[in-house]
Parts: sequence; C-alpha cells; structure tokens
Amino acid sequence: MKPIITLYNTLSRKEETFNSIKEDIIGIYSCGPTVYHYAHIGNLRAYVFADILRRSFLYAGYTVKHIINITDVGHLVGDGDEGEDKLEAGAKREGKTAWEIAKFYEEAFMEDLKLLNIPTEAYIFPRATENIQEQIDIISTLEKQGYTYKITDGVYFDTSLFSHYADLAKLDVKGLQSGARVEENKEKKNITDFALWKFSPLNETRQMEWQSPWGKGFPGWHIECSAMSMKSLGNHFDIHTGGIDHIPVHHTNEIAQSECATGVKYVNYWMHVNFLNDQSGKMSKSKEDFLRLKTIIDENISALAYRYYLLTTHYRAEIAFSFTSLKGATSAYEKLCSWVLENRALSGNISEEYKKEFDDYIFNDVGTPQAVALIWKLLKDEAVMPADKYKTILSWDEVLGLGLKDLVKEVVNIPREVQSLLDERLHAKESKDWAKSDELRTKIEALGFSVKDTKDGQEVSHS
Ligand code: AMP
Ligand code: ZN
Repeated sequence: MKPIITLYNTLSRKEETFNSIKEDIIGIYSCGPTVYHYAHIGNLRAYVFADILRRSFLYAGYTVKHIINITDVGHLVGDGDEGEDKLEAGAKREGKTAWEIAKFYEEAFMEDLKLLNIPTEAYIFPRATENIQEQIDIISTLEKQGYTYKITDGVYFDTSLFSHYADLAKLDVKGLQSGARVEENKEKKNITDFALWKFSPLNETRQMEWQSPWGKGFPGWHIECSAMSMKSLGNHFDIHTGGIDHIPVHHTNEIAQSECATGVKYVNYWMHVNFLNDQSGKMSKSKEDFLRLKTIIDENISALAYRYYLLTTHYRAEIAFSFTSLKGATSAYEKLCSWVLENRALSGNISEEYKKEFDDYIFNDVGTPQAVALIWKLLKDEAVMPADKYKTILSWDEVLGLGLKDLVKEVVNIPREVQSLLDERLHAKESKDWAKSDELRTKIEALGFSVKDTKDGQEVSHS
C-alpha cells in the first residue's frame, strides 16, 4: 500500500491527492538549464526541489523515471521569439563556439548537481540539439492539423485555436493583446502565438542550424521540452516541474502544442518552485553578479549546507537570500553532522511515532521545513534513545539528501589560515603548553570558527 501524497497543482491552484498514471512507475520532467553560463544558486533551487520530489516518490515505494533536459539551443535572450540565441551570445562573450559553450556549462552544471547530492546517474539528461528530428516531427503533425502558419522569421503556433490556452496561467489574453509592446512582431496573428521553428537570418550562417521542411533554422525553446518529455515519458505523464517564471509562457506553450499534437492531456500535475531573490530582486544569469555554488563554497560553506538552507523554506515560498541567513543554517547543519558523527556507531530502530510525523510532512506537498524542524524536535526528545534517533534520522535522509550517511569526515571547509592555527594548537597541547593552546583557540575564534577537543581530536565548526 502506497501512502497518500498530496501535491499543489498549479493547474487547479489546489492541493490534490496524487494518483499515478501507472501503478508503480511515475514520470517526472523538470525543465533543465540553458547552458550558456554557470547555474546560479536560484536555478539550483529548482533542481534541489526536483531531487527532493524524486526521493519522496522513491521513499513512497514508486519507481521514478526523471528527465532534466539540457537546453543547448533556441532559448532567445528575450525569452520570447525575439533576440539573440543565448548560446550564440555566450559564444560571443567568451570567444568560443556555441558548441564549446554548451559542453563547458553542461559539465559545470553536472558538477554542481553532484556537490548538492543530486545523483546524476538517477536522471536522464537529453540535449535539445540531439532531438531535432523529434521536434520537427511534432511541428509537422501540428502543421497537418492546421495549427501553424509561416511568417518571415519562422513557423508559428496559432494559440487562438487551442481553447484551453489560458488555463495554466489564468491568462487574460485580451488584456495582453491591448497592452502589447510596439516592437511586437506585427506578422503574428495573436500576441500569444509563438515560434515552433525559427529561420536562420538571411545571408547569415548560424553556428547551430538544421534543415527542415520549412527552411534552414532552429527549434523554438518550447517545442524542445515537449519533444524531449514525450519521447521519454509518453504523450501523457505524471509531473512536470520548473520555476514559477515558466508558468505564463514556456509551460503554457508546451501544453498548447503537446495537447494539439497528440489530442490527449499532456501532464497531470504541474509543480512550480518560487524564486530565490537577492537584494536587487530575482537572481538571474543576465545580471553578471549572480551567485554561483562556487561563490558559496569559497565562503567556506559546503554545498550540502546550502541544500539544508533551501529545505528550511517551503518550495512555494520565496527565499530572500542573504549570507547571514545562510550562515545560520550552516551552523545548524554542521551541528547535525557533528551529532551524526558522534553517534554513528549506534544501532537502533526507527521510531514509528516520529516516522509517521515525518511522512505526514513530506507527503503533504513536500513539507521540508517541518521535516527539518522535526529532526531537532527528535534530537531534543529525551524519551527516544540516541540509537533510535540515529536510525530514524538516517532513514529520513533518504528523502532530504543531506549526505548524513556518507559523513566520514568533517564537513566544515577549513581555511588554510585556520588549519595552520589548529596544527599549532595541536602541537601546543602535545607539549602541554595550555596557555598557548588557549591563545590559539582565541585566534581561531576571532576568524569565526570554534574548536572542541574530542576523543578523535580537535573538532571545528562555524561559530
Ligand atoms: P534557465 O537555466 O535560465 O533556463 O533556468 C533553469 C531553471 O531555474 C528554471 O526552472 C527556472 O524557472 C529556474 N529559475 C530561474 N531563476 C530562478 C530563481 N531566481 N530562483 C529559483 N528558480 C529560478
Ligand atoms: Zn522546459
């Protein structure tokens, strides 16, 4: 018997009980990165959420087929159908080819996922450039059914022919029409129409372009996701995720073209992650000062502490990012790791009472903040034996993915300066020079670290 799972579905704007299409295996598609730059920590929030979702379903007893695509062509700077391809812009910026840019940033993305304990082997990562024929096939089907029209710069989808077009985003199409910007493409029949295939500019060879029945060019960004999702998961699948920015255009267009091409419902549950904002608003790759995972690691905060930090906010709530709040979460995470390390030799049983509470939180729209708070409630509960606490917390980590099982060494990244003070202090202690040892402790503390003497040696954490 599988547990009852409720999920907030953007389509209905309600929490719904999850019913899978097949009995034991579910399909999830998560819109992947546009690989023209490093992922910023806001983008990574979307994948940590996707990973928690996948793990929750595994924990509930399902097999999960999970796709994260790689957008390596066709995503234009304006997010609409105008402007330069982000990959070609990246190539200009760095004096490389678009193909080199895609390869480099895809690899960087995979490294980030691994650091965040998102196991890349658990996912399928199709590339848009390797699924061109599949995209052309869907466009041909749409053309045969009369949903497309050709204008100067490409083949477009006529959104007025799909009666459910406004459903996902609760769009006011008439309002959009009257508020249209002057630079809007005048050849389009409706303001919401979007490109399925764009032509290469006349007398110009793009770095990424393909032959098609309509002329040389490249696919629109939305058709890529329809093609890659349906290829792996079928025309109708369980869950589709992405950031909330994808609701009004990208996902709305994916639904329109997929449902018109196949005649069946595309996705049952649409789940959207809220933004991570910095002081100046939504973090985005187009602002050159965005924060990367590496920026955080350079501050001596581990990637897993960042994962812990993300889990302390529900995925549908905004995060106002600050280093102060991240450092607070980091201390808590390090304390948890220390507890796990101290108790790792114990063997006990899962506390059924606590498991029930944890399951209620996780299966109720992925309630990670309550699940994390429950760890601390359990640790404080004197009625539960440490061995049982240990076993219970490690079983929860199958879902939370905080790397507790693999904790073999200190998780704190120790700067070189602190490490040399620690070495000196060890030496002072060995020579029983307690005054010197205390003096070094004060110096270490002044650098923001605290040191504890344990039977295994000096234990360091952020103070
Ligand atoms: P991109 O690489 O720009 O195509 O975006 C990858 C994913 O990150 C998408 O699901 C976006 O919706 C999501 N995303 C973009 N910016 C943010 C942000 N500031 N906070 C959370 N998610 C974001
Ligand atoms: Zn997508």
